[in-house]
Amino acid sequence: MKDIVPGAPAIVRNEHAEVKALFHEHVVPSYGRFDITASHGVGSLVWDVSGRRYIDLGGGIAVCCLGHAHPEVTEALAEQSRRLVHVSNLYFQSHQGQLARTVTSHLAPGRVFFCNSGAEANEGLYKLARRFGHDEGRFEILTATHSFHGRTLAGIAATGQDKVKQGFGPLTPGFRHVPFNDLLAVEDAISPATVAVLVEGIQGEGGITPATPEYLSGLRRLCDERRILLLIDAVQCGHFRSGRYQSFQRILEGTSDKESFVPDGVSMAKSMGGGFPIGAFWVRDKAHGVELGTLLGPGSHGTTFGGTPLGCAVASRIFHVIERDGLEARVRQDGDWMSETLARWAREMPDILRAARGLGFMQGFELRPREEIPALASVDRPASLQVVNRLHEAGILTIPSGNHVVRFLPAYNIGRPLLGEALSVVEHVLRSLRE
Ligand SMILES: *Cc1c(COP(=O)(O)O)cnc(C)c1O
Repeated sequence: MKDIVPGAPAIVRNEHAEVKALFHEHVVPSYGRFDITASHGVGSLVWDVSGRRYIDLGGGIAVCCLGHAHPEVTEALAEQSRRLVHVSNLYFQSHQGQLARTVTSHLAPGRVFFCNSGAEANEGLYKLARRFGHDEGRFEILTATHSFHGRTLAGIAATGQDKVKQGFGPLTPGFRHVPFNDLLAVEDAISPATVAVLVEGIQGEGGITPATPEYLSGLRRLCDERRILLLIDAVQCGHFRSGRYQSFQRILEGTSDKESFVPDGVSMAKSMGGGFPIGAFWVRDKAHGVELGTLLGPGSHGTTFGGTPLGCAVASRIFHVIERDGLEARVRQDGDWMSETLARWAREMPDILRAARGLGFMQGFELRPREEIPALASVDRPASLQVVNRLHEAGILTIPSGNHVVRFLPAYNIGRPLLGEALSVVEHVLRSLRE
């Protein structure tokens, strides 16, 4: 008979605590982080270091449009990295030119400048606008309240939210904010110094608020009348997230302006690289009689890393996969279904939800004030954060937007079954807030 020997004590290595300690000691604490240490992901599933599985409805923040570890993205990265990762913008290389052609063919005749992030893409648009107005002494850019345009110095000046500006003055001059979706407010705010209007097609950080078709059409008309540039920040709402390449294309569908509406500039990033950092702005060839596409001539703007062969090869592959797999249509269909689901929740749970908003795979629900929701009232943290935390506990990753909105920014290829599974968990968590 064998002796019964007790097994060796399990060595429980708490990797989560170790990683947190490293951050605690060595990383600038500029982010409020959730209590999750991510390990790996496949498609729309992510695992943490303790082996817990989450369904990812955040996709970074609207970044991982093909999910995690997409084999063709991996292949594009590996393949291109064996050939040429980087050459400076002092040289030509085919990948940047091809990606620029792809972007342009999805918008209108124009040109593309590549950079590395959304804030930088917007910086390019600010410089373009200032160059455009320079000889006439015009420099002022109007943006919307509750907008978000990035964290650089000009980005926080452009952003219509006080919380990003506080403690960083003096602010970059030349930005003023007007209420979103209010055409008269823009008209009233235009001064002799105004050179551009910059708005998001769907406000992301401001609570998932789509621009109305009347607003967009009206802005185009107003900008034409006053020789002002109409610039769209499509960093979050662009790249097929709305169910069309650009949210304004989706918003203006069914209106007489659907073909003729062309902005003068569009900034992009987030989903464009599917997780690989790449940003860009597109600028229209000609606006108000000026050759806008060639306004930023040699020496006027640049960046070391923008538009590398690696970044452009990955971004081109993402375009290819989205189009080959018909993901634009799937975002539309599954997004419409998600809209209906969220709208039904808002109808059925008016004691918890104030509204549901969004387009395609950029949707959110707005919670009632924390004090009115039994399960949230006693904790002094924003309602959106408390719900996101509860969703984490239930195995769902989502992103707060402000203090009251929880948003869904899933991968375009998540598929109806997994999306359905995730949404039924979310519904269950929302219903449990009544207790
Ligand atoms: C995320 C975001 C930005 C900033 O992009 P970064 O890549 O973080 O610099 C700008 N505008 C909008 C609308 C965004 O959502």
